[in-house]
Amino acid sequence: MVKKREFGIFFLLFMLGLFFAYVYTDITKTKDDIFKRIQSHQIEQISYILQNIEKDILDNSDVKTSEDLFSMFSKEYVRAEYEHIISLMLTSNVKYAYILYKDEQDKFRFLLDASKTDKANFNQKFDVSSAEYSTLYTTKKPQIIQLNDIENLYLTYLYPITNNGNVIGVFNIDITTNIQKIILESIKPLETFFVVLIIFILLLMAMTVMQIFHYFVTRKKIFTDPLTKTFNRNYLEETAPLLNLSHYSLAMLDLDKFKIINDTYGHKTGDYILSRTSKVFKNSIRDSDILVRYGGEEFILLINNRSKTKSDIDICERVRKNILKEHFLYEGHEINVSVSIGLHKNPYLEKNLQEAIKRADKMLYIAKKSGRNKVICYDEKEISEELSSSTDISFVKEAIDDDRVICYYQPIYDYKHSRIFKYEALVRIIAKDGKIVPPLAFLPLIKETNIHYKLTQRILLVVFENFKKNNKLVSINMNFSDLINPDIEETIINNLKHNQHLACRVTFEILESDEINDIELFKQKINLIHSLKAKVSIDDFGSGYSNFKTIIDVEANFLKIDGSLIKNIDVNTKDFKVVKSIIHFAAQSNMQTIAEYVHSKEVYEKLLLLDIDFMQGYYISEPKNYLVESDELFKSC
Ligand code: GH3
Ligand code: MG
Ligand code: MG
Repeated sequence: MVKKREFGIFFLLFMLGLFFAYVYTDITKTKDDIFKRIQSHQIEQISYILQNIEKDILDNSDVKTSEDLFSMFSKEYVRAEYEHIISLMLTSNVKYAYILYKDEQDKFRFLLDASKTDKANFNQKFDVSSAEYSTLYTTKKPQIIQLNDIENLYLTYLYPITNNGNVIGVFNIDITTNIQKIILESIKPLETFFVVLIIFILLLMAMTVMQIFHYFVTRKKIFTDPLTKTFNRNYLEETAPLLNLSHYSLAMLDLDKFKIINDTYGHKTGDYILSRTSKVFKNSIRDSDILVRYGGEEFILLINNRSKTKSDIDICERVRKNILKEHFLYEGHEINVSVSIGLHKNPYLEKNLQEAIKRADKMLYIAKKSGRNKVICYDEKEISEELSSSTDISFVKEAIDDDRVICYYQPIYDYKHSRIFKYEALVRIIAKDGKIVPPLAFLPLIKETNIHYKLTQRILLVVFENFKKNNKLVSINMNFSDLINPDIEETIINNLKHNQHLACRVTFEILESDEINDIELFKQKINLIHSLKAKVSIDDFGSGYSNFKTIIDVEANFLKIDGSLIKNIDVNTKDFKVVKSIIHFAAQSNMQTIAEYVHSKEVYEKLLLLDIDFMQGYYISEPKNYLVESDELFKSC
């Protein structure tokens, strides 16, 4: 990845920079060290000479005090002699050499000056500004005054002329910066080299930082959806190989009937709703969850299941409820939205992320089919054994070929007469290992494929064959696309047209939630069923987009009220009211009503308060592979 490489380069440059900076300071330190060594060597040599001259002055002339010194050097020939001796010290490194004394007013004056230039006169006043002069008088020791390149001078060396522990005069030796300059000049190219190198590395580092910064800025742009400010598909594609899917559940979110919002209020409003809903999504998830706009009004949510604060289902439910609670306002319109969610709890069990998305999408499809505004969860672990062999279309195809398609039957109970009114046929497949596979495992896979029609055809044959032999009533599920399939139509006609005894006991349950786009064709097919003396039931009524007029027009015999309205009817008064009005509507339209999803005593008893005709659900009896009798009902209570 770019990021890793740039970081590597930056680190390398940083280390190189540090190394060169170290070398540079080391050179500077060495330079100072050399200066010090040269200085002490120079001073050592000068000291020797001065010591000898001092000895000579004191021995030869019997000098004891500064006055003696004054009178000694007041003689011009003495001065000339010593000036000559001292002048031998003058080199390119030593510029001035002179002797001072302190007069009665404690002012310094020249005794002699051996310098070649700027020569001072005898007894000329010498103004001192450095504290080292008085230090010399108190310590009686030589002193060094650092001059920092004043007039090409590097330092002044003060050497005391002492007698009996008293300082009577001072040698002044001014040393030039010549040697330092020579050394500096020879080191300079090396120093410059390192300075340039360090500047170059700093520049490279700055460029790398800019590149990294640029990378993050463009990365943000490339990976962010401009409308919703969530991650986009690019992000998913780039991060997918890096994601540890075992840390996540994968949910697919799709806004319900979003097209209607666009069609009714315009695309701009649709955009606004999209950006607002994605905000609600973001506020409903945690920082560790990843929200991606997968396309259109479809989002993928990776729910981190390592943070145990909330389960994946809780998060999905929170998203769903928060969207439902929100009333979006746009240009004076109040717009309400709902979301359907397909959740895959174990995406890591799939081959790759794409497969996991496909699975979540199938759950989403079921959520849509079962009335929208729902979370449908797929837990691979729970049903993995049943499903492991059923994950593709060929599983269904083989089952049809091998005659392993069977039906379970769930009784529909006529509680007013305490008898079983009829049975609903529910498809199952017997897997090769003998396990019974539920429809959820294979129906979404074959949706709108040829296999789906073949399966419906097989179910019809299985049911017709079974019920030819008895006098009982049966319901068979169908959706609109089944109904208009010519092969299915032929099967129905072939089996029912000349068997009135069977036809009048068959009800076709047509999924109300299935999108019936051609009403006329729909009516035509329903009329065909009526003409065969079979009956029609509208399935899952109330789950979505019921068109009351169509339902009245098709003159269905039964209305099966959707489980989502029944399952909480004992606690939800709104559901109770809706069901009550559906029953009223059905009665007015000569339809009998069936409540499905009667799963508890409480629901059952609540329904007794309504004038419903029939009930169906696990509380009464679960589906069995044979036709249960009345005395087998209510066994779960
Ligand atoms: P459902 O999902 O409940 O089955 O119905 P739907 O109407 O939401 O389904 P469908 O997926 O057919 O429609 C999605 C619509 O979303 C179609 C498209 O016009 C609209 N759409 C997709 N992307 C955008 C977008 O960026 N802005 C707007 N305003 N609309 C978008
Ligand atoms: Mg949608
Ligand atoms: Mg969609």
